[in-house]
Amino acid sequence: MTDFSQHSLLIANRGEIALRILRAGRRLGMRVICIHSEADRGAPYLALADQAICVGPAPAAQSYLNIPAILAAARLTGATMVHPGYGFLSENAEFAQAVTEAGLIFVGPSAAAMRIMGDKISAKTAMIAAGVPCVPGPDTALPEDPGSYAAIADAVGYPVIIKAAGGGGGRGMRVVHAPEALTAAAMLTRQEAGRFFGTDAIYMEKFLQTPRHVEIQVLADQQGTALWLGDRDCSMQRRHQKVIEEAPAPGIDRALVAEVGARCAQACRDIGYVGAGTFEFLYEDGQFYFIEMNTRIQVEHPVTEMTSGLDILALQIRVAAGAPLRLTQSAVAMQGHAIECRINAEDPASFTPAPGVISALHLPGGPGIRVDSHVTAGYRIPASYDSMIGKVIAHGATRAEALARLRAAMDELQITGVATNVPLHQQLLREPGFVAGGVSIHHMEQWLAQTGAADAG
Ligand code: ADP
Repeated sequence: MTDFSQHSLLIANRGEIALRILRAGRRLGMRVICIHSEADRGAPYLALADQAICVGPAPAAQSYLNIPAILAAARLTGATMVHPGYGFLSENAEFAQAVTEAGLIFVGPSAAAMRIMGDKISAKTAMIAAGVPCVPGPDTALPEDPGSYAAIADAVGYPVIIKAAGGGGGRGMRVVHAPEALTAAAMLTRQEAGRFFGTDAIYMEKFLQTPRHVEIQVLADQQGTALWLGDRDCSMQRRHQKVIEEAPAPGIDRALVAEVGARCAQACRDIGYVGAGTFEFLYEDGQFYFIEMNTRIQVEHPVTEMTSGLDILALQIRVAAGAPLRLTQSAVAMQGHAIECRINAEDPASFTPAPGVISALHLPGGPGIRVDSHVTAGYRIPASYDSMIGKVIAHGATRAEALARLRAAMDELQITGVATNVPLHQQLLREPGFVAGGVSIHHMEQWLAQTGAADAG
């Protein structure tokens, strides 16, 4: 039995996920330490930690991305475990390795597993080996010489997409519709890749025209148990940023999801993956196509927690410390439906971040409602970080019930003093396409373009 009261958990993150990790650590009976930047000095959740320590000035490069400062903070505070959250250093294999080499437990997979899955070409190769379906296209890097590209693209079939192996955050990709544009697109993507992603390796795959974004949550322990915890639909996106997520994905054959889920769990066993992770797929015409794996906890994990009844964060910490899952696949029972709205402090017309002080705040509640947020009345949203200030999640026995609860919750939520996307969510939750379920990844942007709703919001 792992005695968590002997462990001290350092949270290498900020905002709502720092508070979520803090709650999980507390639940396990751990001592919890928060790092913070100078800009986050007044963040209310810091008072809930056993210890809070400043790691640097506001710019993330000097604080939340500053590996030596974070390791020094861990040493000074007597931390035994480090949780990276999402974003920042969460998918940085060098950080995972440095934490481990400092004699601490990294809450996440091994640096080796992160390196395999962090490179989209080696991830694709590993998935094909595990029998996970991938987007059609070669599972190798494109050769340096562009002479062969036309033949490869012909075999894949236009349109194709050229992607950087190390790409992330929706960058390092180019869609090509005709042979004339191929070489220039490949060269540009290669240059960009070399400059931003540490490797200039690029690859080509088919560009799917109207896919949905559907992902599988996995959880694996060090004893060889790997489980999949259902699926999520994150197709409601703007500029590749998810806005609304739900579990399960509406209207997809459950037997097919189970088959893909089982293969994801098998892929975890094959590569020795430990911890929480997400396999992201595009789904089109009744088929799943793997695009990438996220080797960390995700923003949208609460919808899976609501439908599975599992505390994924606490389980993620437990398995990192070597505790077995003590759960079998058949005991994972998903119930009802959950939907999440990401709340951003942003200008409703331009979508640019709107930092400032929250003058008054009223949060919704009631059956099936969960709010994950670190903000309070009087809280100053710093300008240095992203604009997400929390999430409202609704669970119901059916999708219709979850939707009705979420609508009521978003109508009740009041955030005064800064502009937010709450009015946008109120419209999206009543938009007929989304209400019907199963929209493509282009749906939200098409709706915005047609209605000009953002300007009215
Ligand atoms: P990132 O790591 O930057 O998030 P992904 O590989 O996950 O990159 O792709 C991000 C988004 O780009 C996807 O959600 C999808 O909208 C689009 N995309 C990526 N690959 C394809 C493809 N083969 N066909 C169509 N769209 C794609």
